[in-house]
Amino acid sequence: MTITEHIAAVRREMAEAARESGRSERDIFLVGASKMNDAAACQEAIAAGVDALGENRVQEMTAKLAQNAYDGAPLHFIGHLQRNKVRQVVGKAALIQSIGSEALLREVEKEAARQQLVQDILLEVKIGGEETEAAAVLARELPHVRVRGLMTIPPVETVPHGNLVYFEKMHRLYVDINGKIYDNKLEYISMGMSGDFADAIRAGSNMVRVGTAIFGARDYTK
Ligand SMILES: *Cc1c(COP(=O)(O)O)cnc(C)c1O
Repeated sequence: MTITEHIAAVRREMAEAARESGRSERDIFLVGASKMNDAAACQEAIAAGVDALGENRVQEMTAKLAQNAYDGAPLHFIGHLQRNKVRQVVGKAALIQSIGSEALLREVEKEAARQQLVQDILLEVKIGGEETEAAAVLARELPHVRVRGLMTIPPVETVPHGNLVYFEKMHRLYVDINGKIYDNKLEYISMGMSGDFADAIRAGSNMVRVGTAIFGARDYTK
């Protein structure tokens, strides 16, 4: 199957899960997780209608930016971000999904101020979520970052549908923080990958990050 056909299949499954949770397919944002896939694959995914592409590694993202891999769609940064690489991502990514500490948050604020822009971010929730509320309160005070929502990467699934309970807990945290700290202005709850995006949508996700189901298995031997 081609990337285009894979995306059509993913969209159908997304639409089904959206309907089951009383929403429409238009309510769910599809990020193609394009790590280890080349610029041509990225362009095919954009032509086939992904809403954004998400990258994990700064070096790979920078190289593919130079090849115009993301032209035509917003670029998201979804991977672990080291503080010393913040400078290479702020102002390049439309959305940095993976801000998981207050230290990283302050670093993004500093760099966005330097570039005189406002950087859109998601706060990454680690298991439990206790630190997220503090980060959300801090972020409100930072003029050069704008929190658009929350993101999470669940634990590795050991049984089918094993993450459903985790997704539901995460959705409750999103609703809680959105109401309490953001006046219900947050828009995105990013959760769900190739193996579990339908469950994530059923639990309330409105942004999924799908790699393998779009681009095929990644070849880690290269
Ligand atoms: C690679 C990756 C994905 C996509 O994973 P698949 O299982 O290939 O769909 C989603 N989110 C993050 C943060 C990733 O690194």
